[in-house]
Amino acid sequence: MKIEMHSIGKVINDINEMISPGLIRNHQSIIEIDEKYLEGLKDISTCKYLDIVFFFDRNHEEKMIISNKAVHDKGVFATRAPSRPNHIGITTVELLKAEGNRLFVTGLDAINLTPVLDVKSCDTSLFDKEQIHNSILGENPRIDIDRTIRSDDREDLLYKAGQLHGHICPGIAMGVLCGAEIMNKIWDKKEDPYDYTMTAEQPNCVLDGLMFVTGFTPGKRKLILEPGDRMRYKIVNKEGKGWLIESSDHNRAYINELLPDEMPKLERAKKVLKLDFYKIFDVTELS
Ligand SMILES: [Zn+2]
Repeated sequence: MKIEMHSIGKVINDINEMISPGLIRNHQSIIEIDEKYLEGLKDISTCKYLDIVFFFDRNHEEKMIISNKAVHDKGVFATRAPSRPNHIGITTVELLKAEGNRLFVTGLDAINLTPVLDVKSCDTSLFDKEQIHNSILGENPRIDIDRTIRSDDREDLLYKAGQLHGHICPGIAMGVLCGAEIMNKIWDKKEDPYDYTMTAEQPNCVLDGLMFVTGFTPGKRKLILEPGDRMRYKIVNKEGKGWLIESSDHNRAYINELLPDEMPKLERAKKVLKLDFYKIFDVTELS
């Protein structure tokens, strides 16, 4: 389909040949809108950010694969390169001020006299959400992990714990299973996991999973290692209340039956997440 378009204005700045987009963006530019569209600029000052749609009028190349200093062998649609079929550029700029038909902006990566095709208010809601989320994370970095435990998405926990542990294995899955159970036990009592400390014996894959899910770490002095070689975890608060969790003697048969050795590691790890916690561990309440 053939589409005809007309420019609605032009870019004015002191860059007359294509240089690195990052460098152009540091310059202030003016977007001069044709007088006949002036009415369309009503209330433009209420926009902090604008999307500027422009035409790369001095680029006539069309490439499907882009390779340059910044980009190596990427499909053109995965880049912002000007050598594209319709030579259209879209850039989000910050509006500094508007005077008559002139918009003073920063962040534009178009050179002097580039024809402008459109100016649009920028929808920043996606960025805003991310910023709000990041500011919550700044205050409480574990919030995503806690939410994932509460929504019982154990597979997601497994993959995230794997980022700490370095691989995904049945052991770390066991730690995730056990850690989620501990967190739920503490929350069921309407208490704060931060008030608890864990004592463990074996530094192994299971322990990494437990550490990730519960946040009981040696750096916060919430994890104490004791000599011993059993899967045995004591989780207590300052009053000595809590739980002793031990792998039970009869669990081997149950685990072996559900997790045959020939099953791939990742499959076995995912299977572990579905095991019955109380068939693997004995729990004693400490008071
Ligand atoms: Zn492991």
